[in-house]
Amino acid sequence: MKNTFNIAVFHGDGIGPEIMGPTIDIVARMAAASQSYDLTFKDAPAGAAHYAKTGESLPDASMETARNADAILLSAMGLPNVRYKDGTEISPQIDLRKALTLFAGVRPVTVRKGQRTPLNMPAGKEIDFVLIRESTEGLFHSQGCGVVTGNEARETLLITRDISEKLFRFAFDLAKTRKQEGRGPGKVTCVDKANVFRAFAFFREMFDAEAAKHPDLAADHAYVDATALWMVQKPWDFDVMVTENMFGDILSDLGAGLMGGLGLAPSADIGLEHAVFQPCHGSAPDIAGQGLANPFAMILSAAMMLDWLGIKHNNVAMRDDGKRLREAVEDVVARGDVLTRDLGGNVGTDAAAHAVLDTLFVS
Ligand code: ATP
Repeated sequence: MKNTFNIAVFHGDGIGPEIMGPTIDIVARMAAASQSYDLTFKDAPAGAAHYAKTGESLPDASMETARNADAILLSAMGLPNVRYKDGTEISPQIDLRKALTLFAGVRPVTVRKGQRTPLNMPAGKEIDFVLIRESTEGLFHSQGCGVVTGNEARETLLITRDISEKLFRFAFDLAKTRKQEGRGPGKVTCVDKANVFRAFAFFREMFDAEAAKHPDLAADHAYVDATALWMVQKPWDFDVMVTENMFGDILSDLGAGLMGGLGLAPSADIGLEHAVFQPCHGSAPDIAGQGLANPFAMILSAAMMLDWLGIKHNNVAMRDDGKRLREAVEDVVARGDVLTRDLGGNVGTDAAAHAVLDTLFVS
């Protein structure tokens, strides 16, 4: 008997719907071909265009759809010319993170042989690490509540024991899973600034306490500034990195840069119950509506969703499909003959997505 999983779908703004359509098509076909799972999709209207039309950026009904779903697929949201009255951008993805306590922002960084990268890769080397960005507190805690008094401005960084313990447990579990899959040596690096800030010394103490529970895994520390250097000089040395919200925000764009751009950077925001899967990039209004958007980051995010559901529900076929989908995108990228413009090619969104489908079902 097939297990059915309900997926909430946020089509988003700008290029969002253009990359979500082919992504749903691919995973729906994989589910239809599977003996062990099925997927149903329910649209959840939200975002900047929705706000412009209705005055609501994340309606209660869409929040409810997200809460009731087994997983959430979210495309890019926000438009530069549509803002709240206080001037801030419409970002329901951040509201979802907070409302569903999605503390682990998972940002895989992979560069396979043949993939374009600004780095000079030594022969035979590949990059395959995961950056985990805490996504509910840190320096983003005071988002929207920063204070300016006279000539002084203040923001507050918050690190809590509750979230940090969950975050580090998640990081070590991920390192264990990757080790079992042969994707890494089983090492977690705590990225902080514990030499300067008390809050990061506290962060590190909790990391060390979790590390002590995993004698089968390696653990080390790195300061965030040195980490930026090493991500460029020797990124193949990392396996799982875990860090505070703001540091993770910055380093994940550096990671996307190593991969040759945002068009290949997937992500997941994961909590204990819920998870949102979305590309790292924004809604790219400059190319929206032209069929030029690269769908790969969205498709890779959907592959992460299959993997996460497979682990959560002990469904091996789903995990296999997640891997197959990721590898199909990697194959297309390595072949290099059907790439969108951002990756140096000349095809559009549909042709790029079709190349993935062909790799999955024909070859
Ligand atoms: P946000 O603040 O919402 O992350 P942003 O303005 O920083 O958004 P993006 O919307 O991600 O950035 O766009 C940055 C640049 O990358 C733009 O030139 C855009 O066209 C390009 N870009 C982003 N995503 C894609 C994609 N999937 N395919 C092709 N180009 C993309």
